[in-house]
Amino acid sequence: MTNTASIFNIQKYSIHDGPGIRTVVFFKGCPLKCYWCANPESQDSKPEKMWDNQKKTHTTVGNYRTADEIMEDILKDEVFYQESNGGVTLSGGEVLYQADFAIDLLKRLREKNIHTACETTGYVKSSKFEEFLENVDLVYMDIKHYDSIKHFDGTGVRNELILKNLALALAKHPHLIVRIPIIPNFNDTLEDAVKFADLFNEYGVEKIELLPFHQFGEKKYTYLDRDYEMEDIPQLHSEDLLDYQTVMEKNGIQCLVH
Ligand code: SF4
Repeated sequence: MTNTASIFNIQKYSIHDGPGIRTVVFFKGCPLKCYWCANPESQDSKPEKMWDNQKKTHTTVGNYRTADEIMEDILKDEVFYQESNGGVTLSGGEVLYQADFAIDLLKRLREKNIHTACETTGYVKSSKFEEFLENVDLVYMDIKHYDSIKHFDGTGVRNELILKNLALALAKHPHLIVRIPIIPNFNDTLEDAVKFADLFNEYGVEKIELLPFHQFGEKKYTYLDRDYEMEDIPQLHSEDLLDYQTVMEKNGIQCLVH
């Protein structure tokens, strides 16, 4: 295991990434390449140059941090975690792209009795995922598509490993939450909702969250000098997903729309 991890942000006082007040550690690097990704600066594991439009200059996104340094940052807010039943969430990019470092961090947090959560695609060797699952308290797992070929078209990887790991995750964390980014012309029809619901009932997923496609990442592609495939696609709003949500609920799946 390397002594440092590539991190692109440590966000304090988050209330959207698990219970209570949380610190979110964003790991840089992702094995998927979703064409709608709202954080394109998180995809490459190495620090990279990006235009900063406020400072009118290029700045470096990401740096290498030791676990000691990250823990020091996290522990500054220990009192908030205790008072709000909060904790720390490991996110990305894809946290499992640097799995050994993440597991070490989870162990350190457990020693300090700090609640942990993760936001992951689950795209990693299953034995490593199981080790990770042993050490984390709450799992949010992204599933982008029920169909493996379409999953490949959207993300650059097939979904078999992800679904195998979803089953492993459910065995240890039966109340885990699956999140689906709802992307126009990719997985947004009611037929898609029915097929997702069938999949979730087959696997025993109880709770899901729908994340409507948004355009918050659009400018970042310009700032990174990269092409953006979603340029002319209107964003979705929570009210656009009410029928999708109804399909889930009719199939016995608790469904929250963000
Ligand atoms: S999995 Fe998340 S971070 Fe990785 S490319 Fe897809 S949207 Fe971006």
